[in-house]
Amino acid sequence: MPSSYDVIIVGLGGMGSAAAYHLAARGHRVLGLERFGQAHDLGSSHGGSRIYRQAYFEDSAYVPLLLRAHELWQKLATDSGREVFTETGGLMIGREDSLAVAGTLDSARKWGLDHEILDAADIRRRFPTFTPAAEDIAVHERRAGVARPEATVSAHLDLARGRGAELRFGERVLGWEDDGPGRKAWVVTDRGVHTAEQLIFAPGAWAPSLLSDLGVTVTVERQVMYWFQPEGGTGPFTADRHPVYIWEDPDGTQIYGFPSLDGPEGGAKVAFFRKGLPSDPDTLDRRIHPEEIEAMTEYLRPRVPALPGRFLKGAACMYASTPDEHFVLSRHPEHTRTTVACGFSGHGFKFVPVIGEILADLATEGSTDHPIALFDPRRVRV
Ligand SMILES: Cc1cc2nc3c(=O)[nH]c(=O)nc-3n(C[C@H](O)[C@H](O)[C@H](O)COP(=O)(O)OP(=O)(O)OC[C@H]3O[C@@H](n4cnc5c(N)ncnc54)[C@H](O)[C@@H]3O)c2cc1C
Repeated sequence: MPSSYDVIIVGLGGMGSAAAYHLAARGHRVLGLERFGQAHDLGSSHGGSRIYRQAYFEDSAYVPLLLRAHELWQKLATDSGREVFTETGGLMIGREDSLAVAGTLDSARKWGLDHEILDAADIRRRFPTFTPAAEDIAVHERRAGVARPEATVSAHLDLARGRGAELRFGERVLGWEDDGPGRKAWVVTDRGVHTAEQLIFAPGAWAPSLLSDLGVTVTVERQVMYWFQPEGGTGPFTADRHPVYIWEDPDGTQIYGFPSLDGPEGGAKVAFFRKGLPSDPDTLDRRIHPEEIEAMTEYLRPRVPALPGRFLKGAACMYASTPDEHFVLSRHPEHTRTTVACGFSGHGFKFVPVIGEILADLATEGSTDHPIALFDPRRVRV
């Protein structure tokens, strides 16, 4: 066991596990530290499914990263032998000028991505589970689908371990220091001290406490996922017939949902995008309250009438958001041996494999060829 490492990664959730894999695959000596277990459900990377799409309404600058992520998702599936993602197609529904529709079209056109525009009648005919208003339209993207968070985290960690990475679970980082040129960086945990040439922080919702001098406000929000057993069964909701979707109302409210993925009794998952309550990751309210279930049920009835047949279960998750909802992915502006990945603002999972590749570049080369200017922490000094 090496006494000092090339890179220590703090946090082995979505992003840290991918970094561990890419670094170990390049032959670096890696130590990964995670305060909870492997692929746990206490952070931001659990709940069985995440939407994957390429025609990105948030900003077309994300598209080249998504194109590379797609290659890496395929490679991860092959290398791990796990079902880490499934292509189902994706439907972005809303008024013509909604962000979901207009932003998706903008990215699709700029990057020449395969898409179709459907009017309300087309939507009802092709995807009869939806009852859009007459003024709604949708953009259908073939290359969209579901990423599986727990399977992805485990695939990356198992592959990293196979390439020699040392991964420690149930070990919490309490403090760290980055001494500058010539000296090593070190972290103090509840079990000891570890040193390395480089540190990577991928602490999800715990970024505010570990990265206090980053200069970016990361706000943690509680977000609830709901699983319903559709009235009449999951038949029309199976992944071979039903796309992932985001549906935006004229007031800007967005819901998103998935096909039924876990057999006839597993139901289909749906959630509000954003609209979360500010929370502390250590005291997050993990109970799902009757009035929340009621609010989701009422919201779904006019839009996806069969879905809220029977509530099966709910789970709380956290968004860790920056003020402009773009990521922070960069060398640390104040520390020479430290790289940071945080503030994924509720939309980071689809990028996981490419973020791992970028973190490996930044930690070992100091830079990356991937376009990440949008994610510089100095853009949002607040
Ligand atoms: C309800 C919900 C729905 C979402 N839907 C989508 C979607 O459809 N599509 C999409 O692309 N994205 C989606 N996201 C966002 C996406 O899941 C996140 O952006 C992504 O999972 C964040 O990964 P992360 O590695 O930053 O955080 P995490 O996976 O939470 O990893 C951080 C890790 O750091 C560890 N850690 C923290 N502090 C310490 C410490 N001191 N010592 C040791 N370890 C520590 C934590 O235990 C944790 O394991 C969703 C998120 C939620 C919550």
